[in-house]
Amino acid sequence: MSQQPPNSQRPTDAKPGKLIIISGPSGVGKTTVLKSLFQTCELPLEASVSATTRPRRTGETEGVSYYYLSPEQFEEHRKNGDFLECCEVFGYGHWYGTLEAPVTTGLQAGKWVILEVDVEGAAKVLKHHPDAITIFIHPGSLEELEQRLRGRGTESEEVLQKRLAVAKRELDASSSYQHIVTNQSVEQTVNDICRLLQQAEKN
Ligand code: 5GP
Repeated sequence: MSQQPPNSQRPTDAKPGKLIIISGPSGVGKTTVLKSLFQTCELPLEASVSATTRPRRTGETEGVSYYYLSPEQFEEHRKNGDFLECCEVFGYGHWYGTLEAPVTTGLQAGKWVILEVDVEGAAKVLKHHPDAITIFIHPGSLEELEQRLRGRGTESEEVLQKRLAVAKRELDASSSYQHIVTNQSVEQTVNDICRLLQQAEKN
């Protein structure tokens, strides 16, 4: 009969990390906020790299921004049960998923693993990790988000209207998050998130 090693002989004695779920609508500035958070917040933060079937955008890097998979490869992982959560993200027409193994490894090593997922993915993760910290980055109002998206000038009117419809659905779900941080300025938002994480460290 195989024996489990006693606790003291586990590969790591590190204090287990924490799981942090961050959501927010497209155009709210999540990527910029998270980049700055990783650079400035003095906690052992680690970004979870999602898998997706959407094509790589200019400026994105394989294995850093996402793992870019074909629909067949994605389905294979899904069948194998490799995903902590995955969904065809509403309004995007592509599959996105969080691979479970790197998240588990990170948490066991004491990392604070950050998942940037949509509201549906967040609900799925919470079923397995009810103790996760949930943060919603809010634009303030749908009108402010519209102004930002228009200011960016990168979307056609049709795409913009679709983004806003998706955003409305996401904003409606924001009240189920433990923390809602309104992104007035990147610096303030990063400070707010870092402070609330430091507070969670004490609990
Ligand atoms: P984008 O294609 O603009 O990078 O992301 C589109 C949407 O997919 C965003 O709302 C983002 O939060 C969400 N997303 C990114 N990775 C994942 C993931 O692994 N799982 C889920 N459920 N959503 C994700």
